[in-house]
Amino acid sequence: MIKLYNSLINKIEEFKPLKENELTMYVCGSTVYNDMHIGNSRPIVFFDCVARFFKYLGYNVKFVSNFTDIDDKIIKKAQSEGVNESTISERYIASILETYKLLNCLPHYKNPKVTENMDNIISFIDELVKKDGAYVSGDDVYFDISKAENYGILSCQRVEDLISGARIEENQNKKNPADFTLWKKTIVGKNWDSPWGKGRPGWHTECVVMINNILGPKIDIHGGGLDLKFPHHDNEIAQSTVINHNYIASYWMHNGRVDLNGEKMSKSLGNVIDAKGLVKEIGYGAYRLILLMVPYRQPLNFRQELLDQAKSDYEKIKKAKLTFAHKMQIDYGIKDYQIKIQNNELLNLKDEFIKEMSNDFNTANAITVIYKVLKLINTSYRSKELDPEYAKELLSLFDEMLWVLGIDFENTLLSEEEVDIVNKWNEARRNKDFESADKYRAIINEKNIII
Ligand SMILES: [Zn+2]
Repeated sequence: MIKLYNSLINKIEEFKPLKENELTMYVCGSTVYNDMHIGNSRPIVFFDCVARFFKYLGYNVKFVSNFTDIDDKIIKKAQSEGVNESTISERYIASILETYKLLNCLPHYKNPKVTENMDNIISFIDELVKKDGAYVSGDDVYFDISKAENYGILSCQRVEDLISGARIEENQNKKNPADFTLWKKTIVGKNWDSPWGKGRPGWHTECVVMINNILGPKIDIHGGGLDLKFPHHDNEIAQSTVINHNYIASYWMHNGRVDLNGEKMSKSLGNVIDAKGLVKEIGYGAYRLILLMVPYRQPLNFRQELLDQAKSDYEKIKKAKLTFAHKMQIDYGIKDYQIKIQNNELLNLKDEFIKEMSNDFNTANAITVIYKVLKLINTSYRSKELDPEYAKELLSLFDEMLWVLGIDFENTLLSEEEVDIVNKWNEARRNKDFESADKYRAIINEKNIII
């Protein structure tokens, strides 16, 4: 049984899929005018683990994340470079897709773009107007929050507080100061024809339209960063209550923010860490460990010690697996070790890992179970009487767990020549031929053979 924290009701709940053995999940993606920073990568990596875990349990996973490829910021950047907006958006979509790959994320079911969904967006807004959930005023179309069922349910805000809240700017065209724009009439930048004149849609309407079109009127999980809870996610929900009479998803999940050395990370402060640069520098294993060592709902304070720890932990994981796999290759000639786990101690560890992941995806505790397996691997490595079948199960279990967290890696086998050198070294040591042993050890070091 998977339990997860549902932000919609602020409670831990048992997960019940809409369709047996299927997970439909949507996570708000990037506005494509910049490269991803480590803060943007947290939901991408975390929800990738959620998708992987469901797959591991045998679910058919449909994970969708969008690209917002029309926005004032994209227009501004295009103007400053003297190019059209699609040049900017395509550049950053390519860069972000490359970053997903570098981060070892499984390919998403779909990555829809707003510009490719314009007909659907326009007919969705039209339907909102027809159902009296939206109105045309001045040049624009607004959503009427008084028509939503339980507006502000996600962020637990009361409509009265929102109305009196000073942070909502006064707009004479709005019936209610908290009403939000669905369609903005404009000819600045890329624009589309609509029943309300040339213009483009507001940000809050795109996600709900793409969810409906790709995954249906209701999905299992809608995720995103905590900063999107209000107004973006509440506004997505508001539209869905008028069109589909639901809150879009059975479960809403929000990850905490990423700080840098205890300070808020933001582009305007100039203290952001580029995701692609960092993953290229330290590799996806250490990168993902940084994000997964802290439970996802907590804020994560990125700092040097955390980076150093993740790097050294990942080295230990890698070294343990490779040295052990190579030992099995040399001592027993085992090259392929994938096997069903039957040993009781290992089955218990597998259960423990699944239990931790099923407890609101507690990746931090799941990592500690990985360390328990790592310890067994290191003990077995030194053991004089190793049962090869047990060793295979041990490595299989280790691989499974690493895969769920996306910190797995290719198992590089030793070449015939490398096995031969190691065998000669072992033989020389057995014969107490220290001169030859030293010679072979030097070759092993020079060739960087991991044993
Ligand atoms: Zn969204």
